[in-house]
Amino acid sequence: MNTSADPCFAPAVPLLGVEEAIERMLAQTGTVVRTRKAMLADAGGRILAEALTAPLDVPGFDNSAMDGYALNSADLATARAGGLPVSQRITAGMPGVPLIAGTCARIFTGAPVPAGADTVVMQEVCREQDARMVLDADAAVSAGANIRPRGNDIATGDTLLEPGCVLRAAHIGLVAAVGVDRLRIYRKLRVAVFSTGDELVEPGHKLAPGRIYNSNRYLLHELLITQGCKVIDLGTVPDAPAATRTALTRAAARADLIISSGGVSVGEEDHVKAALQALGEMTLWRIRMKPGKPLAFGRVHKSAFIGLPGNPVSVFVTFLLFALPVIRRLQGRSDTVPVSYPVRADFSCRAKGRREYVRVQVRASAEGPVAQAYPRQGSDVLSSVAWADGLVEIAENATVQPGDSVRYLPFAQWQQ
Ligand code: AMP
Ligand code: MG
Repeated sequence: MNTSADPCFAPAVPLLGVEEAIERMLAQTGTVVRTRKAMLADAGGRILAEALTAPLDVPGFDNSAMDGYALNSADLATARAGGLPVSQRITAGMPGVPLIAGTCARIFTGAPVPAGADTVVMQEVCREQDARMVLDADAAVSAGANIRPRGNDIATGDTLLEPGCVLRAAHIGLVAAVGVDRLRIYRKLRVAVFSTGDELVEPGHKLAPGRIYNSNRYLLHELLITQGCKVIDLGTVPDAPAATRTALTRAAARADLIISSGGVSVGEEDHVKAALQALGEMTLWRIRMKPGKPLAFGRVHKSAFIGLPGNPVSVFVTFLLFALPVIRRLQGRSDTVPVSYPVRADFSCRAKGRREYVRVQVRASAEGPVAQAYPRQGSDVLSSVAWADGLVEIAENATVQPGDSVRYLPFAQWQQ
């Protein structure tokens, strides 16, 4: 075998660091701009494609924060002494009339404060008798109390939502609050997926000797659905050059992004790189990390391509770290950078030559959050991922001892 052309055998080609790889991938990735209008009730979980500016003030008028009585603060002393006549009754949804001087208005939460009133006293500190409201002598009421001023929440012209925002419940509520009933959203990203490997068998079928079930296909399908992608499932592709090229061509015809698993390492049965180079271009390969070293990135025609490793743990970890930022950029999402938190390690680890991502569970302790590592950290041990709630990042060549502070990346941040 001629190994001289293969960069893997050329020690002069350094592997890329994680951040450098992500940076390069993002630099080569733009948003797929295909948008449509969606009704508010159908827009939850989708990505906003244009900024939303408030067309009105919320609240639109000064209103009462309490059930009570609206009055002018100049009359507070009179209200305590002999009381004030109740001259009108204003309920939520009903405009009152200007307050007659020297009187008060019975008022309810959310009702407009009448002109001439600047204060609301809550009903718990007063009593009403003979159509007069008498304020408790010891009730502390300051001028302006219990009034929610116009525009307190939202002012006309405020930028309420930026493009790239994932529309969650609170955002949808906010949009409704300003009376808008439809939004421009990005259409779903189309992602074609295939698994490579002659050894793969579909769940539900009998396993022949030496064969294994295809877990990556289902793992990836679920990860992509969680990210709001439209999945184009191309199934399993045999370890053969022509079949790999066919899969890539079919995928490129239908998808914005192609993701494969396996066949991207250095063995003779790894055909993804060659197929990618034949049909498009490979702009990045191999990362200085564990698990997940063999990862390829490039393009086939107009589709972005990510070749993930074969081992299921590597698939999971590299999907989160590399595929997700790319997907989010393609989708138009603005939050591409993961968040990590300091926690204490409850394990030891030495990351020889590569950055390591340890599958951990974090639990509370008197000294703050503590990360426990799954006992088996091999890239084939998918149970480690199922057990874990996040990853701890160990810097290249660093040694971690129990009690050391480490960076924790919770899975939860990626599950939306
Ligand atoms: P490869 O990179 O193709 O050499 O695959 C590396 C390891 O991952 C091998 O042990 C494969 O059997 C395993 N593997 C590859 N694809 C899958 C898959 N879809 N599901 C489960 N294991 C896989
Ligand atoms: Mg393989």
